[in-house]
Amino acid sequence: AADFGIEEALQKLGLKEINEGTSTGNDWFSNGAIIESYSPATGKLIGKVRTSTADDYEQAMVKASEAYKTWRMVPAPKRGDLVRQMGDALRENKDALGKLVSYEMGKSLQEGLGEVQEMIDICDFAVGLSRQLYGLTMHSERPMHRMYEQYHPIGIVGIISAFNFPVAVWSWNTMLAWICGDVCIWKPSSKTPLCAVACQNIIAKVLRDNNIPEGVSCLVTGNACGDLMNNDKRIPLVSFTGSTRIGRHVSKTVAERFGKTILELGGNNAIIVSEHADLKMVLVGAVFGAVGTAGQRCTSTRRLIVHESVYDKTIETLQKAYAQLNIGNPLNENNHVGPLIDKGAVTDYLNAIEKAKKEGGKIIVEGGVLEGEGYESGCYVKPCIIEAKNEFEIVQEETFAPILYVLKYSTIEEAIDMQNNVPQGLSSSIFTNNLREAELFLSQAGSDCGIANVNIGTSGAEIGGAFGGEKETGGGRESGSDAWKVYMRRQTNTINYGTELPLAQGIKFDF
Ligand code: NAD
Repeated sequence: AADFGIEEALQKLGLKEINEGTSTGNDWFSNGAIIESYSPATGKLIGKVRTSTADDYEQAMVKASEAYKTWRMVPAPKRGDLVRQMGDALRENKDALGKLVSYEMGKSLQEGLGEVQEMIDICDFAVGLSRQLYGLTMHSERPMHRMYEQYHPIGIVGIISAFNFPVAVWSWNTMLAWICGDVCIWKPSSKTPLCAVACQNIIAKVLRDNNIPEGVSCLVTGNACGDLMNNDKRIPLVSFTGSTRIGRHVSKTVAERFGKTILELGGNNAIIVSEHADLKMVLVGAVFGAVGTAGQRCTSTRRLIVHESVYDKTIETLQKAYAQLNIGNPLNENNHVGPLIDKGAVTDYLNAIEKAKKEGGKIIVEGGVLEGEGYESGCYVKPCIIEAKNEFEIVQEETFAPILYVLKYSTIEEAIDMQNNVPQGLSSSIFTNNLREAELFLSQAGSDCGIANVNIGTSGAEIGGAFGGEKETGGGRESGSDAWKVYMRRQTNTINYGTELPLAQGIKFDF
């Protein structure tokens, strides 16, 4: 019980045999250098994974290209049935995979299980969608002509994902891409390679059991594969989730060859706490938003913009709540806050606090690194709160750690300006019971983010809506609504069933 069932989970997910750094097969190509994956929860080595060489990458691309020829001809609802079976396989592995996510990435077990639930949800969504890949029909201006549009698969979709959602982001992309008739090649974060191998094992079995070429789902590992994908003309769409810095490079490189991208980059999300807010609700939304996943969600709450009349009270309740937070092993359900991903992230956290202080920030809840029993990995930090100004350089940046900046405002217009006045545009929220304020916040003069909520925090989205953000967040949309369209190419078809050939716009061409 001391290992919280981790050994058993690794066994179930077929990860025991790769401990010497060999590939499990399953269309995962890896003969390169070894990456060791350590748990930020305990500091212990979980397993070793080999990276993919340029030759391995090439093999994966050949497999993917071959599989595409078969997969695109499978009727979409039949592809949906495969995705339904994948959802069932994920249900069957939910406990083990959720545990591994928690252990390898460091988020709480509840959040790890929640992440797998998101995968299951997107499978269900995609199954329904597989019968709804609708195009429009139009009326032609020419007699005896019919016009319509249809959506065809786009081809090989490259997926590059971040460490903080090591399994869900991949599934948001793949499940839609697969029902659309695409095949996928995945390069996961090198910080969470075992989660990726586990997913690949689960999916490869479903494909094999149905006699579908496994190349429908390919896995390559190691950072070098990122640039191979960016530059590869055989990949018409690269879906990238990660930092704005690397996203900018991916965007330029893929655009240079006229490839398409879905960019899901950094956020700098704020909650506006109005004088008309229900402060009990604010507390849950703000604290979970700021400290959940130890502040390592793209939608984590980084700024709290508080009306001057409720400022002192809000600070006081936050201080009380922060004093009650349990920090420790994320697999222990009594803990609220787990570790940061690695020691590099701890350094970034400490530097951000120093910078905020230098710029004039005032500490409201003290931060710091935890030491001693249970904190051996060196990755556990205290969530902290700093009174700051929106224009501080450090407040304008995304620091991937549990640091909450509080800012004071007097008018709602000023609060909306502050909320918008950062380079990123992912998630935003207002807590208010005043209809005028809520509607202003949601109007075209309100929040400029891809996600804007009322009386809900910034973090945690449902798969039914399109997910993504504006400005330096990259503009991509994934998951629900009509996000599927990016994974397909649109074709306009005109058919003449008459005996004349009239030209459009009444143009005459007699000879
Ligand atoms: P990161 O940018 O360091 O890494 C992301 C991925 O890019 C990794 O797989 C990495 O190996 C890969 N990579 C590295 N060099 C590359 C290159 N030259 N070409 C292509 N890929 C390359 O990000 P991270 O630290 O793993 O994740 C945290 C960041 O991700 C945060 O900024 C967070 O906001 C963002 N994020 C955004 C969303 C969203 O939906 N908007 C979701 C999750 C995370």
